[in-house]
Amino acid sequence: MNKEAVNFGILTCPSCHSRSEVAMPTHACVILWQCPQCDMELQPKPGDCCVFCSYGDTPCPPIQREKTLQQEHC
Ligand SMILES: [Zn+2]
Repeated sequence: MNKEAVNFGILTCPSCHSRSEVAMPTHACVILWQCPQCDMELQPKPGDCCVFCSYGDTPCPPIQREKTLQQEHC
């Protein structure tokens, strides 16, 4: 089976500051996420590849893997 389980990251909404545990796909970037508390749609900040990099407590898995490679954002 697929060894790469889905990770979870904590996203902090910049609008209402609520924290939500959100599934973090290992091979895709989440570029749009809607806060369940205030319905605000979050998009990555300029220079960030996904909402986890902008608002999460951990960078997305592709970025974590890239730390050594330094290129090819998702
Ligand atoms: Zn919110």
